[in-house]
Amino acid sequence: MIIMGIAQRYQRVEAELAARCAFAGRAVEDVRLIAVSKTVGLAGAQDAVSAGALDFGENRPEQIVEKSAAFPQARWHFIGNIQSRRIPEIVEAATLIHSLFQLSHARKIDEAAAKLGKVQDVLVEVNVSGEESKSGIRPEEALDFVLEASKLEHLRVRGFMTMAPQGDASVARECFSGLRELFEEVRSRLDADDAAVFTELSMGMSEDWPEAVAEGATMVRVGRAIFSDDFE
Ligand SMILES: *Cc1c(COP(=O)(O)O)cnc(C)c1O
Repeated sequence: MIIMGIAQRYQRVEAELAARCAFAGRAVEDVRLIAVSKTVGLAGAQDAVSAGALDFGENRPEQIVEKSAAFPQARWHFIGNIQSRRIPEIVEAATLIHSLFQLSHARKIDEAAAKLGKVQDVLVEVNVSGEESKSGIRPEEALDFVLEASKLEHLRVRGFMTMAPQGDASVARECFSGLRELFEEVRSRLDADDAAVFTELSMGMSEDWPEAVAEGATMVRVGRAIFSDDFE
């Protein structure tokens, strides 16, 4: 048995991603690999950085603050549950917030970004599968949500994020194709300026990222396949 470390696993996923992109007829630079480092500390993140990782995902404010300060050369993505009172910290550290699904939070993000003289890029989380355990807006609310959030001056809606039900690749694939269709439909209804920046689909995790790439993901969020030694 060959035991791989974080750096090797990162490079293996990166190589697989290049192969999947080629298979899907997509350019490798059109799909960003986000290393979800939420289960490791600074040393684990360092291993991924040394393997070439440029994008990291975190789901807790204190973690994104600490790790982004340690590795400012990387892009830090906030993928976790947003709590109002933590928004200023998140906005200070995050390149992109993937998990926005409440307009009250959009307004607070806008305020926090204005204070920092920043325009915050966000994705709207959509619950495509309808599972009760998943957060996100319902697909039929997506257009109104994007139109409303796009009015905020210090916030830029860049696209959608979803999480597929785990355990069945074909169910996951259906969920991803549903999000892509919704994305195209919503994009066609935006004015030219908003449509020009509405370009991202964050979908796919360790179990199902190949399906997401096949369905048009522009970002995949991979945790265990990089950071855990017992993921197969
Ligand atoms: C943890 C997490 C991931 C990564 O999941 P893995 O199965 O470990 O790859 C991706 N997206 C979100 C929102 C997460 O919370």
